[in-house]
Amino acid sequence: MKSHTGYLWFQTGSRTEFINITELVEEELAKSGITEGLCLVNSMHITSSVFINDDEPGLLSDYGRWLEKLAPYDPGSYRHNLTGEDNGDAHHKRQVMGREVVVAVTEGRLDLGTWERIFYGEFDGRRRKRVLVKIIGD
Ligand code: ZN
Repeated sequence: MKSHTGYLWFQTGSRTEFINITELVEEELAKSGITEGLCLVNSMHITSSVFINDDEPGLLSDYGRWLEKLAPYDPGSYRHNLTGEDNGDAHHKRQVMGREVVVAVTEGRLDLGTWERIFYGEFDGRRRKRVLVKIIGD
């Protein structure tokens, strides 16, 4: 069995942002030389997510508004912010959108459904953050 480890770095200009990272993950798969196996992609931070859904601008905008309703930024309303941070909302948004995805690798390609794309979701941006790509197989 072979394995490949890659790190993707992101620094967004705004607190909340969604980035389609499918091509970056495909580049890691190409580097790995693996044709049959599994590809794990996870955020290494507790205020950002990796998830799979449609790359449709209306949907991504809806996610932003929906998450803001579930966990408004409102720094004064989170006990977590008593630590001196202001990102209590971002921890909640990450929890809802998830930490990681696992995608099957079949015949050298990410075996995604027709409309499935891999996204990085940032909820407390403006600093450098890392995503792990781990691919195992043959
Ligand atoms: Zn925090």
